[in-house]
Amino acid sequence: MRENIHNVNILQDSQKPLNRVGKLKYITKIEQLPQLSGRQADRLHKVTEQFAFRSNDYYLSLIDWDDPNDPIGRIIVPNIQELEPWGRLDPSGEISYTIIEGLEHKYSSTVLLLVSNVCDGICRYCFRKRVFIKSQRELLRDLDAAILYIQQHDEITNILLTGGDPLVLTTSKLENIIRRVREILHVQIIRIGTKIPAFNPYRIVDDAELLRVISKYSTDRKRIYFMTHFIHPRELTDVAVKAVSLLQSSGAKIANQMPLISGVNDDPEVLAELLAQLSFIGAAPYYIFQCRPALGNKAYTVPVERAYEIIEQAKAKVSGLAKRVLFVMSHSSGKIEIVGLSQKYVYFKYHRAACDEDSGRFLAFRRKPDACWFDDYDEVIRDYPIELPYRSYGPQ
Ligand code: SF4
Repeated sequence: MRENIHNVNILQDSQKPLNRVGKLKYITKIEQLPQLSGRQADRLHKVTEQFAFRSNDYYLSLIDWDDPNDPIGRIIVPNIQELEPWGRLDPSGEISYTIIEGLEHKYSSTVLLLVSNVCDGICRYCFRKRVFIKSQRELLRDLDAAILYIQQHDEITNILLTGGDPLVLTTSKLENIIRRVREILHVQIIRIGTKIPAFNPYRIVDDAELLRVISKYSTDRKRIYFMTHFIHPRELTDVAVKAVSLLQSSGAKIANQMPLISGVNDDPEVLAELLAQLSFIGAAPYYIFQCRPALGNKAYTVPVERAYEIIEQAKAKVSGLAKRVLFVMSHSSGKIEIVGLSQKYVYFKYHRAACDEDSGRFLAFRRKPDACWFDDYDEVIRDYPIELPYRSYGPQ
């Protein structure tokens, strides 16, 4: 392990109480950020008219305001580059798998329920911006219909509660959904996709009732998984780590998924640090997503082949448990893993395909360094030429 890795002392077992004194303060207007000048706020106001802004004082306190390129600031503070025309509202074609509003069934064993259209903060690179746009405030409104659909499909073993962020719901509302889903015998795993441990860990630390609910419904044979969304090591504050630890103590499993975002975690040292720290706290690094071509996301996107190299460089610095992560694209046709590069070709594999028979299918394309998404590749190679492994990184 290199000396400059893991030297950020963020995982001390704090003896001091971590509960919050007083309520968090939320900001939804860019003009309310005192760190911005009036002129800066005016410029960014235009961005927020198109893509909503929301944060709280805890998360904003993690920003180093003296650094104009601060990675935490980049996650949450609007950027004028978002106005550059690029991308689409539904980059993964979720609409084509939507059975009823707020219920998506793409992979045979898994159903997504969009149970919330609010997040505690709004990530600037969000792939589901459509959920926050007024005319499209997509949400599961008919829980009874969703439960009936799942009951009628006994191939469904996994339910992913997502949104928005399910932990923004009150604990009683969340319990009601979890209870209804748990009553369906063929459902085994309930996943809760959440950025609350990063945005507002006090939501967990200060709510004993939530932990009781998790321990009741995460059983020996049917676990609840929290799919956390830590994207930078500085999000792993003492209170955030405490929140993860409490979820684990209540019987939940934790896996972390995040996109690779330009200016946030596209540095191999930073990414290695994050992967290592996640493995130390038992939040298994699960997926790194290629940033989806959602509206406004150009400035946050790293081209596919460069992203692959960064991730491989990071993985080279960490131990096995930290590098179990898969680099994937959530494409409309399935989850496509980027498995390798050679001098001329880039190799993909369907990790999970919407069409079951395509799962595991291997694909090779001629390399295209500026490609940002699977659809940007056009020259498919049919005989899968195998070349010597390509390495453009490390000691030359
Ligand atoms: S937590 Fe997820 S859904 Fe919410 S703003 Fe961030 S990326 Fe979008």
